Amino acid sequence: MGRRVIPHVPIRPLWRCRNCGAEWPCQPARLSLLVEYRGNRTGLLLYLGGLMAEAREQLAQLNPDHVPDLHHRFIAWARSATDGVTPRSGGAGRSRPEGALTVIRFCA
Ligand SMILES: [Zn+2]
Repeated sequence: MGRRVIPHVPIRPLWRCRNCGAEWPCQPARLSLLVEYRGNRTGLLLYLGGLMAEAREQLAQLNPDHVPDLHHRFIAWARSATDGVTPRSGGAGRSRPEGALTVIRFCA
């Protein structure tokens, strides 16, 4: 009753998730970012780049002796994550979502 949904957003300047307490961006935050920026990977990387700069500054003030690997945390996952639509060189026209066949077989 009246249970508030806490979004997976960063608490500044700690850069931990307000919902789950993990280092932000946590897994749910990454997923929702991928959905939000679907088809616009460049926009997502720009957005994350801005946040990474902000986080680096704030985390460095909190703990100058230990600045974590923010590039990996903020950028690398977004670069390597797939959209579900992976354009292949040569563009073979029909793209079938990977796993669809498996699911069908599984249900049959
Ligand atoms: Zn979270």
